Amino acid sequence: MATKFIFFTGGVVSSLGKGIACSSLGLLLKSRGFSVTILKLDPYINVDPGTMSPYQHGEVYVTEDGAETDLDLGHYERFIDSDMSRLNNTTTGQIYYNVIQKERRGDYLGATVQVIPHVTDAIKSHITKVADETQSDIVIVEIGGTVGDIESLPFLEALRQFRLQNAPEDTLVVHLTLVPFVAAADELKTKPTQHSVMRLREIGIQADVLLCRTDRILDEGLKEKIGLFCNVSPDAVKTALDVKTIYEVPLQYARSGFDELVIKRLNLPDRPRRIDALEQKITRYKNVKREIEIAICGKYVSLQDAYKSIIESFVHAGMENDVHVKLRWINTEELEETGLTDQLRGCGGILVPGGFGERGIEGKLMAIRHARENKIPFLGICLGLQCASIEFARNVLSLEQANSTEFNPDTPDPVIHLMESQKDISEKGGTMRLGSYPCILTEDTLAQKAYGQKEIRERHRHRWEFNNAYRERFEANGMRISGVSPDGTLVEMIELANHPWFVGCQFHPELKSRLSKAHPLFRDFVAAALQYETVRNHNIHAR
Ligand code: GLN
Repeated sequence: MATKFIFFTGGVVSSLGKGIACSSLGLLLKSRGFSVTILKLDPYINVDPGTMSPYQHGEVYVTEDGAETDLDLGHYERFIDSDMSRLNNTTTGQIYYNVIQKERRGDYLGATVQVIPHVTDAIKSHITKVADETQSDIVIVEIGGTVGDIESLPFLEALRQFRLQNAPEDTLVVHLTLVPFVAAADELKTKPTQHSVMRLREIGIQADVLLCRTDRILDEGLKEKIGLFCNVSPDAVKTALDVKTIYEVPLQYARSGFDELVIKRLNLPDRPRRIDALEQKITRYKNVKREIEIAICGKYVSLQDAYKSIIESFVHAGMENDVHVKLRWINTEELEETGLTDQLRGCGGILVPGGFGERGIEGKLMAIRHARENKIPFLGICLGLQCASIEFARNVLSLEQANSTEFNPDTPDPVIHLMESQKDISEKGGTMRLGSYPCILTEDTLAQKAYGQKEIRERHRHRWEFNNAYRERFEANGMRISGVSPDGTLVEMIELANHPWFVGCQFHPELKSRLSKAHPLFRDFVAAALQYETVRNHNIHAR
């Protein structure tokens, strides 16, 4: 079977959820027995998002093979439940970088190097490479940005050429657009969609399917109208209804027959769709009554895209514990000014996420001390493990000036220090310790209990590490080293011996949580929070 290519473009406004749309269709097609992969084309000039601020870009998602990628890759993995690689995300920056390197090597000797054909050829060959290397039946390509943006033009031009050069039944263009309800007119409005489809047609691309984001079902009359103006048949106008959780989107698409239409248009065999397990999971989750609150003590709390994978990991963990996990966002810089006061009151657990730089660190230490001393379940991720180590050194080992050399290069007690392998590195892009590494867990620890196995693999993104010179003192005073690299040199996990659930990890478990299976650390953290809350309520009533 020839590989099929489904391109997603977006129109009218950004943030319509193109990543979720690609992931949801991917899930449905995978459930029909096809192998699916998803490629994100990002129009910016950075080679990857690794050097961008979370304010610019949200979370940087790290793949198994250590690529720093767009956060949409997280959705792809969580929905279609397979690992993406560095091939699954490319940018204008990467494309040009490769073209310019080829030019310098002399590969284009004699030619003027131009957007058409050299840049568009590079884009097309990347798409083909993804198909060849992943051997997928279906490659979904998400084109970042919105139709009409100058920056995404080369990608759209490459798409136009790609269609011309491939059999009509092997490619499909899905255009995600907005059909807003205008309250004053009491009507759904189709004009923005008409204009956006017109922009696509101007550059030679005719959409095959219109996926209309809207807050109410489009009736047949409206579909006919959109179809007529946009030059698609009315059955190819699909409603993408707003739903409560993103994991309902595939179910909503299935009800609208979106995947059936795709199968038909691409001439694929009509195998049965198998989504019973997902349907049951969502129905059960929607009926959950219990709620628990977890405090996320971080720096970018007003910008939840920065913690996308953590948020989703709590949804998965909530599904497996039959509880809605409500997240309380605590800006640790503010904690430094106000003190703890009531900010953490009533939370069943405290999480300190990854991060960089000194801002807000002291507030994180305050929250961690509170969790340690009051036996509140705690999960520290990457910087969170590092902060838990600093807090322990200061307040348990009485090393008052203990710190990470990231925040104070001259600290007398550098319990966290720069990794040896990082010392000679000066370039910032792609040079951290990145991607999947093995870790050996210690017998009889919360870590081993959670994973149920001795050796695990987790993904990393850091430059600093626990300083082994302090290991013995930590262990002698009740901090267990519960996971290390196979050669024993790198501390990957820590936990408090005398605490119901206090765990730190140098890696990012949130990058491996899936809709089909919550990450064991998040699952057990939420379970511990529920347990803590039960005991706390009991104590309140007993008083
Ligand atoms: N800034 C710390 C380091 O580089 C932590 C990084 C992180 O939390 N991802 O080691």
